Amino acid sequence: MRLTRYFLPVLKETPSEAQIVSHRYMLRAGMIKQATAGIYSWLPLGFKVLRKIEDIVHQEQIRAGHIPMLMPTIQSADLWRESGRYDDYGQEMLRIRDRHDRDMLFTPTAEELITDIFRGHVSSYRDLPLTMYQIQWKFRDEIRPRFGVMRGREFLMKDGYNFDLTKEDALHAYNRHLVSYLRTYERMGLQAIPMRADSGPIGGDDTHEFLVLADTGESEVFYDSAITDLKFGDRDIDYDDKAQCQAVLEEFTSRYARTDETHEEALFNQIPEDRRRIARGIEVGQIFYFGTKYSEPLNAKVQDADGNEVAVHMGSHGIGVSRLLGAIIEASHDDKGIIWPEGVTPFHVGIINLRQGDGGTDAACEGLEKALEAKGLEPLYDDRDERAGGKFATMDLIGLPWRITVGPRGLKNGVVEVTSRRTGESEEMTAEAAVDRIAQIYGV
Ligand code: ATP
Ligand code: MG
Repeated sequence: MRLTRYFLPVLKETPSEAQIVSHRYMLRAGMIKQATAGIYSWLPLGFKVLRKIEDIVHQEQIRAGHIPMLMPTIQSADLWRESGRYDDYGQEMLRIRDRHDRDMLFTPTAEELITDIFRGHVSSYRDLPLTMYQIQWKFRDEIRPRFGVMRGREFLMKDGYNFDLTKEDALHAYNRHLVSYLRTYERMGLQAIPMRADSGPIGGDDTHEFLVLADTGESEVFYDSAITDLKFGDRDIDYDDKAQCQAVLEEFTSRYARTDETHEEALFNQIPEDRRRIARGIEVGQIFYFGTKYSEPLNAKVQDADGNEVAVHMGSHGIGVSRLLGAIIEASHDDKGIIWPEGVTPFHVGIINLRQGDGGTDAACEGLEKALEAKGLEPLYDDRDERAGGKFATMDLIGLPWRITVGPRGLKNGVVEVTSRRTGESEEMTAEAAVDRIAQIYGV
């Protein structure tokens, strides 16, 4: 992509309404624009990262055996009356009336609708287990939308729902989600710690929240620092293997790690003092097992092997897809701008032409662009007729993890410069070697 043909409305000034760094950088880097309070347009650069995050979530859900689908954003109130949540949900639910005076709503979550789909089509234990999920916009009329996409009113969420015959099977679904989430967040360059949480209005006993440690996080968290040494890495997990999933869950949840809602001072004090941590975190996901809380009132039942009608055991599992952009930036930036982890970067590498209009540098940049694209990589070529300083500042702000700088002096010696955004370290090499280096980094 050529920058002169792209839409990247970078801001020079720091927007005064943005209180935290991720919000500031998302506005300054031209990633989002507020449409109205808590509701954003996703400009091309922000949309690209959003899509990358969605892709990772899809891939890891499908790897875990979960089935993608899509439900509508606007739903009828009827189902919510049936479950009893139409009244319970309160003012966070955006209620709408259609031209026939029917009560509708913009969905804040989708337990009711998925349960309705299930009960309409599944009647035998032979069709279980079943886990379906969607990545769809949600609306919650938050009393105080703030921090940009971190606490929006409209936001993108992955929500998944499992249906199982027994509690044991449903707990396996819970464990499977926990494992797949660990892998999902690590692929985004994040450490998200599963913490024992409170189930709130969704109800149920078993629930963990995944928290990214950051001073700007809204949750207060208490944990044993030993937990931050745990890495999921590239373990090859068989998601159907109950014992394997259970073992990973135990490994990642046996250390003390809780939100303030479930914090117990006495237990916390049993951790050796030098490992006790009180910090703040951003909630990027939550998993629930809630048994028959929805299947009973909504009559989602199947026949078991003995012919008895039994309510299915369910759970629901969410990832804050749009919030993740903010969380990643909070966890990965410096005073010049964003530093995207390779897994979610909007473009793989930036190309900077130090003397635009010079036949030699222009040809070298275009050659690099073509060679990178031939490898399936997406470079962003800054071909603006601008000072080098301005080009570097834009590239640093938008945070591409790698940059190739092309100037007449280097070309005379047959080299270009490859720079890491994270370390700032540069290395000179031929253009061919630069392409190979970038391809190697991205494993293509
Ligand atoms: P919170 O406690 O932050 O209000 P929640 O527990 O109500 O969130 P869930 O119902 O667990 O949210 O939703 C799943 C995920 O969706 C959350 O873990 C979070 O990452 C994300 N999310 C929830 N509310 C918002 C919001 N207003 N803006 C952006 N993301 C959100
Ligand atoms: Mg939650």
